[in-house]
Amino acid sequence: MVATSLVASPAVAPLLLAVDFDGTITLRDTLHVIVDEHGRRGVWDELEPDLRAGRITIEQAMAEQFRTVHATPGEIAELVRARAGVRPGFADLVAYAERAGHRLVVMSAGFRSVIDLVLGDMGLGHLEVVSNEALFSSDGCTLVFSDDRGEVCGLCDRRCKRHAVRMRHDGEPVIYVGDGISDRCVSGIADLVFARAGLAEWLDEQGREYIPFDDFHEVVSGVRAFEAGERAAA
Ligand SMILES: [Mg+2]
Ligand SMILES: [Zn+2]
Repeated sequence: MVATSLVASPAVAPLLLAVDFDGTITLRDTLHVIVDEHGRRGVWDELEPDLRAGRITIEQAMAEQFRTVHATPGEIAELVRARAGVRPGFADLVAYAERAGHRLVVMSAGFRSVIDLVLGDMGLGHLEVVSNEALFSSDGCTLVFSDDRGEVCGLCDRRCKRHAVRMRHDGEPVIYVGDGISDRCVSGIADLVFARAGLAEWLDEQGREYIPFDDFHEVVSGVRAFEAGERAAA
């Protein structure tokens, strides 16, 4: 027996949208902006040999670098507001995801206080955020690396975003949006990747598919096309 179809067409199946922050939601990487303005120049170059040789981790190198950042939270907020910039359309992606019932998580290797500031200014302070934290002070900045990421990743040997996505994932398709090195590993478990800048170049080298984007309106269009494909395949 065929059921009479007075029921509205089924809602779109939920997706997990994981979005990087620095250089993705913002136009410029806030870590670079902060170090350039308030840090001691050349620290990263001094650490590079130890980093390459595996004598220190990237987290230790970041902590060393940020220890040279002498600035108050107020000075950091002023700098980030002046320089970070926001990529057009992110609020529209959030609104679209909320209407469609998709889960959107901001997933960053950067700092919660900076992320909350930028998202709060956009009226998006309610978003779910996974990140590290930086305690800014005129005596030098202290980094706090989050345990949110759970275990060390077996592929890249770091507490990377792959595990953070897995922990939040319940079988729904994963869409990842990013631009940098911390987005490489996690992009491998996404059903669809939007990439720009260094992440796009790396995916090209790997021969892997992605959708390039310059703003989030393109991401909304791509997500809608993905949904249409999922419905057609169902
Ligand atoms: Mg980034
Ligand atoms: Zn990994």
